[in-house]
Amino acid sequence: MSSSERPRPIAITGATLIDGTGGPPLANATVVIEGDRFSRIGPATETPPPEGAQVVDARGRFVIPGLTDMHVHVLGPDRWHARLFLAAGVTTVLDLGGQLPDLAALRGAIDAGTTPGPRLLYTGPFLEEGEPYAGFAHLSRRVDGAHIEDAVDELADAGVDAIKLYVTITPGTAERACARARARGLRVFMHQQETWGADAADAGVDCVEHMMVFGALAPEALRPPEPGRLTPFEYGGWMWRWLADVDPRGDAVTRLFDRLIAADTALDPTLVLFAARPGALGDDVGDTSLDDPERTPLLPALPAPVREELIRRWAERRRAAAGVSARSADRTRKGWEHLLALVDRFHRAGGTVLAGTDCPNVAIVSGYSLHRELELLVRAGLSPMDALLAATRRPAERLDRAGEFGTIAPGLAADLVVLGADPLADIRNVRRIERVMTRGRMYEPETLRRAPAAGA
Ligand SMILES: [Zn+2]
Repeated sequence: MSSSERPRPIAITGATLIDGTGGPPLANATVVIEGDRFSRIGPATETPPPEGAQVVDARGRFVIPGLTDMHVHVLGPDRWHARLFLAAGVTTVLDLGGQLPDLAALRGAIDAGTTPGPRLLYTGPFLEEGEPYAGFAHLSRRVDGAHIEDAVDELADAGVDAIKLYVTITPGTAERACARARARGLRVFMHQQETWGADAADAGVDCVEHMMVFGALAPEALRPPEPGRLTPFEYGGWMWRWLADVDPRGDAVTRLFDRLIAADTALDPTLVLFAARPGALGDDVGDTSLDDPERTPLLPALPAPVREELIRRWAERRRAAAGVSARSADRTRKGWEHLLALVDRFHRAGGTVLAGTDCPNVAIVSGYSLHRELELLVRAGLSPMDALLAATRRPAERLDRAGEFGTIAPGLAADLVVLGADPLADIRNVRRIERVMTRGRMYEPETLRRAPAAGA
């Protein structure tokens, strides 16, 4: 945008503001946006819209910060649905494993305003020191554990926003990677397998991904001798063998969580990913469970290729689950209950929970699956406010970017969502999106969901 055309300020008036700090909602608020930033926020009585402002009447509506999905993968330009994220109110994503050239190009286009999309933060390839899983080899970089510092430096120099450690990284290497990352001002995220349980926290990891950390709760007899040699899918399958037998209130859980919380290691459980198992049995795992065109109101809103892939992938899941015995189905349900209880207990004990989805993993939709993640966090036991914080303030804090996005405050990037109903009354109201603003630009979800014309 040239300096000569200064955009008109925008004033959103009359809405109830939930600013993402965790403070009480402010009724009849005015939110003023100048350029790409929030400039003034306050009660309507004390905050008149500036001269010449475009006034958006939002009486009866609810304004929340733009949402952050803390675990996505771009997987190349054709699997990246930037507009869908925005249409779902997701204005920031953290890519936790991808190709640097793709990521840099897509981020460049969004930052330049060439294409609408969420703020794209990324780690570049995830780091492995053993044989990487062949299926994800294109997303990973194998490094010599003895020289992990060089790999961290190289990524830092390439402009990444964080570091991602993957399944074969050992605790000693993780510790050195974390030390170097800290020195370079970068946080570390880990999908752990070879680094067991709270050893990741002791190494200095800032956030453990999925719920691999719960592997430490497995019966000793079932513990794999070399967990880093399992593929991520085998490790997940292994967890479902014993999750039904875990006592979420037990002492082993206390010990595990004490270490995570003492080290201030966050948990990004990606519940929506684990929900696929009970979901494939036909169980209700949240609104728009994505498996049944009759049941979900989401499908008609999706672009045809996304919708078709979703239906196909879910049909495959359902077929795979069709031969499951009644006993095995019961154990899956019990295991799922235990996962929810563990997340709730971690949160109640003072742990930081972040919201991520692992989009576009099997049947996970850009943006919209984050709504379901928030719903599942509430089912686990978080309040709707705490679930919202897991996708607003807490991600920004965990990335040391709280001065840039994540809440609605003067000086921060103008990322917000206007909702037609109160998300604190029912978290599923995060789906009632009327408008989305990213860095001062306002969009309507329907316009964003329409497939962009070529070259758009
Ligand atoms: Zn992932």
